Amino acid sequence: MSHAIYPKPGVLEIAPYVGGESQIEGIHDVVKLSSNENPFGPSDVVKDAIKKAALRLHRYPSTDHHALRSAIADVYKLDAERIICGCGSDEIITFLCQAYGGPGTEVIYTEHGFSMYRISALAAGSAPIEVDEHERTVDVDAILEAVTFRTRLVFIANPANPTGTMIGSNEVARLAAELPEHVLLVLDGAYAEFVEDYDGGARLVDKRENVIMIRTFSKIYGLGGLRIGWAYGPAHVIDALNRVRGPFNLSDLQMAAAEAAVRDTAYVDKCRNENARLRSWMAKALAELGVASDTSCANFILARFHDTGEADACEAHLRADGLLVRKVAGYKLPNCLRITVGDEASCRRVVHSIAGFKGQDL
Ligand SMILES: *Cc1c(COP(=O)(O)O)cnc(C)c1O
Repeated sequence: MSHAIYPKPGVLEIAPYVGGESQIEGIHDVVKLSSNENPFGPSDVVKDAIKKAALRLHRYPSTDHHALRSAIADVYKLDAERIICGCGSDEIITFLCQAYGGPGTEVIYTEHGFSMYRISALAAGSAPIEVDEHERTVDVDAILEAVTFRTRLVFIANPANPTGTMIGSNEVARLAAELPEHVLLVLDGAYAEFVEDYDGGARLVDKRENVIMIRTFSKIYGLGGLRIGWAYGPAHVIDALNRVRGPFNLSDLQMAAAEAAVRDTAYVDKCRNENARLRSWMAKALAELGVASDTSCANFILARFHDTGEADACEAHLRADGLLVRKVAGYKLPNCLRITVGDEASCRRVVHSIAGFKGQDL
């Protein structure tokens, strides 16, 4: 049957998002290291909060997310009035593109940047503009050169995914200061909690009218399955985003879990320390096997192989051993594999398997 019904320009240019795999046929004890999840899951207080919230599911949730925003503000020392919560930080990326993008506008992200920036820009009708990085690291000058009168948003993740690299706070501040007044800088801090003594850009947000920071409960908090994110920005931006946000975008269960999670700072500290310990152990072990990586600031390692063929062969070898890692050719890194830092046993299995692949017995 023929039809003359077409989505608006841009929509059919979207390559659907492909999530990390979780199953291998015929293998039962699969270790999933393809989605940067916290191997320990959420803390026990979060599970208790979810059980309690299960008793009131017939009630509509709060529309202003007041309790969750207050908890986030307490813990991170922020102004609760300038926080917005979303169904994952993905939804906040969508709000940003809906509110500021549209036909005739441009949205900037970088060469190896997170794929949701391009998807949301296209869905909003904006032109996605991809800027080169320098050695798998965001290049502030290249971004500034790419800005035009059409640019509305600049997305950078710091630390970045899938590279794991970071730029310094001076560089971020310089980018914010040198962007023209009509451009909003979005700092995606999905992995900020893995960096010791790092505020994700919160203090920069306080100083400026053109910076917003987005955060998630999907990574260090171990709640990827529940879909909760938040952002902290200037009052005028939070006001605009709230106008495109649906009133019941978060369920009571999501908010109860997130509130308990954010208040359990001891658990976050424990996960950060364990991640740092296993990450440096794994990076060093891989380097000794001839697999290089940039120093990662997040909960994964971007393992670099000699070429695409070697990366693909290693991925197949890991898979045969029941270990799922992420291919990142779609991020213009065909010779790399992104490996989430799992628990200690998983890290050891990865190193053991790659040693076998390299023909070296450990
Ligand atoms: C995982 C990730 C997110 C989080 O997305 P959610 O929708 O909150 O699960 C955001 N940005 C980057 C760069 C990520 O890697």
